[in-house]
Amino acid sequence: MTPGHPTVALLGLPYDASSSFQRGPAEGPPLVRRELFTAAGNLFTESLLDLGADGVLLDAGDLPLARHRQSTPELREEIEGAVASLLADGLRPLSLGGDHSVTYPAVRAVAARHGRLAVLQVDAHPDLYDEFEGDRYSHACPFARIMDERLAERLVQVGVRTMTRHQREQADRFGVEVVTMRDWRPDLALAFDVPVYVSIDVDALDPGFAPGVSHREPGGLSPRDVIRLVQTLDCPAVVGADVVEFNPRNDVGAVTAGVCAKLVKELVARMVAG
Ligand code: MN
Ligand code: MN
Repeated sequence: MTPGHPTVALLGLPYDASSSFQRGPAEGPPLVRRELFTAAGNLFTESLLDLGADGVLLDAGDLPLARHRQSTPELREEIEGAVASLLADGLRPLSLGGDHSVTYPAVRAVAARHGRLAVLQVDAHPDLYDEFEGDRYSHACPFARIMDERLAERLVQVGVRTMTRHQREQADRFGVEVVTMRDWRPDLALAFDVPVYVSIDVDALDPGFAPGVSHREPGGLSPRDVIRLVQTLDCPAVVGADVVEFNPRNDVGAVTAGVCAKLVKELVARMVAG
């Protein structure tokens, strides 16, 4: 670690067996890394942080999760333990999914470390189902689990455009602050007075920009919208993050992999800044 700023650890979570519709996100992490480190670009963020400099970004590799056929306590403990061990080393974890079910164990680890925590979720979907097709750990449920356990004192969702009556009731019950796409304004400014975990589901972006997702939902955010949200996020620290639900099987010419890599870069810049 370099004194003066935190080091971000990139952790691949190649797991997609909690997806309700299509598999594929488990194949995402190496393709995002390929775009991140491509010779076609450089490793500078827009704030001129060099991700290639010592002590900025550490690649912690991928967890070997392929043997898991569903979300079991063992799988969730494996993810939570890996994130907890990065935190114990003083690193800030940035996970690459994987489907969105990986966020619940990751947030458990970050909440255990930091105590007070807010979560910013950028997503087309609320992911607040109490259970989905009989599975309480489906990728449609992680934020219900997070709020059940009071892991976050605030949950702010941006980009939502698939609300259902059940999930609206869940959002009300948990006090979730939902900024739907109907209410989206490009100058939206988010402020938190506690450390923040940022979870970006790539399907928040319009499928015209990011076709490589399992659930394409038109009418979404642009890459610039999400980058600006990250860059202008007003909070004491971004202590953890993930970029999830990239499905390479639906990608077109690695466009979505490139969008994920760009979001990772700007997330790292925000995490290093405080
Ligand atoms: Mn989604
Ligand atoms: Mn999601």
